[in-house]
Amino acid sequence: MGEQQPTPPRWDDLRDDARRDKRNMCKPQFGERVREWSDIRDDIYSRPSEDERGEPRGYDTSGMQRLRGLIVVQAAETEAVLGRILRKVDPQAKPGKKMAGGLLKEIYEKLPGPDKIAWLSHVRQIVRAQWWRNLAVHHTVETGYTWADHATGGGEWVPVVTAMDGELCTERELRGDLALQQTSTVLAIEMLHGLSCTNHSPYEDCPDWWE
Ligand SMILES: [Zn+2]
Repeated sequence: MGEQQPTPPRWDDLRDDARRDKRNMCKPQFGERVREWSDIRDDIYSRPSEDERGEPRGYDTSGMQRLRGLIVVQAAETEAVLGRILRKVDPQAKPGKKMAGGLLKEIYEKLPGPDKIAWLSHVRQIVRAQWWRNLAVHHTVETGYTWADHATGGGEWVPVVTAMDGELCTERELRGDLALQQTSTVLAIEMLHGLSCTNHSPYEDCPDWWE
């Protein structure tokens, strides 16, 4: 007779435990930054370097990671407005569970023909912002390095650019993506307003168009 094996918990119990557990109040071991997994791997399971240069690592990509975060959160602001637009276009609609892409598709499909034409440029630009948001989210940031020889001999690894799945991307480009997201929120608010207030006057209060 073998020993009785303990029964592993069911997945739902694990999830309930996670919800009940106290929030982790530890300090982040790497500081307030994102460390690339390959960087951590090299720390834990470091391989002997092939030459005396060693492996390039340790470059702080926090600036880029911060921008990625801002892009996501600004896109969520746009999404909140899209939910309101959908309810305006179709009071029966349930925007709750939809992702931004699905929301905008449903809005566009439910807009009457003339409104589709009137808001085409807005919709196009919001779609474009969503596309760049998804790129910034789903792709991993990898830091590229180049070896720079010192005139006095020796040299060092210098971080050059950060790539997201082959798509070359620097902080400058991510800043452009954030600009797109901010514009996208403005455009969505303009749509929400325009669908309720067709004859806007700066001298009168608009109806409660954002409700
Ligand atoms: Zn108005």
